[in-house]
Amino acid sequence: MAAIGGLQITDAGKIYDPGGIHVVAVDNVSLSIAPGEFCVVVGPSGCGKTTLLNAIAGFDQLTSGTIEMDGELLASPGKKLLPGPDRMVVFQHGALFPWKTVLWNVTSGPVKRGQVRMAEAADKARELMGRVGLQGIDDQFPEALSGGQKRRVEIVRALMSNPKVLLLDEPFRALDALTKSVVQEHLLELYDFERKTIFFITHDLEEAIFLADRVAVMTTRPGRIKKIVDVDIPRPRDHHVLTTDRFLELKSELGEAIYEEAKLAFEAGERELA
Ligand code: ADP
Ligand code: MG
Repeated sequence: MAAIGGLQITDAGKIYDPGGIHVVAVDNVSLSIAPGEFCVVVGPSGCGKTTLLNAIAGFDQLTSGTIEMDGELLASPGKKLLPGPDRMVVFQHGALFPWKTVLWNVTSGPVKRGQVRMAEAADKARELMGRVGLQGIDDQFPEALSGGQKRRVEIVRALMSNPKVLLLDEPFRALDALTKSVVQEHLLELYDFERKTIFFITHDLEEAIFLADRVAVMTTRPGRIKKIVDVDIPRPRDHHVLTTDRFLELKSELGEAIYEEAKLAFEAGERELA
């Protein structure tokens, strides 16, 4: 598969300054993500995860540093490449069109842009949905779906645009624990199938280790990279890895780093905006 979707984040910084309050949200973050890598950034609420993702997605600007994708400048102070189908985002609270069917929701983006014809898009959508247990729901409306089904539909929708990178901002946060573990397995299934570069943010350490090739721990605000750990657990993975010795080792190694930061964040009274 072609080596596309590499991200190079260099000394990225973001200061929010509404009315002169000067919040240093992200400070000097450098992170290199290889094409096809599944990178998870984990850190306490308010440490700048969403800020970083927004800069990659083109929703917001950096105040220092640069972000490049495959050598192309995505973001630097005063410049951002507008959001586009090359960087698809899935949020915690998705955005399916409620008055449109599932099939319409997942196919309309690439079809409208002329990327693919409807028949082809429908085939691809059915293939991806079939892989994640979503057969037979093409004609349903989003309100008929469970939270876990909606998240899967949103991920399939994002993949339908054939992005270079998939950006996920705590997509499973609102799900109950059981649903979450099933949907995580489904995401891995899609990752093993498509091997897109994934930039996933969460504050859930187990989720981070279960999914990632590499976990980057961020410090509490101002968000910096505190630690990066390779997750050397072979793929394909399913929930059985959660109880392996290696998983527990990684969890304790990373847990220490995160606990320190979570405590600092709590003491600082951080609360999340987005
Ligand atoms: P995370 O996603 O890790 O919870 P965010 O990136 O949402 O963190 O926020 C990082 C910090 O920046 C937080 O302290 C938050 O309050 C602050 N922040 C986020 N967006 C804005 C904004 N538009 N204006 C001012 N401060 C903001
Ligand atoms: Mg956030």
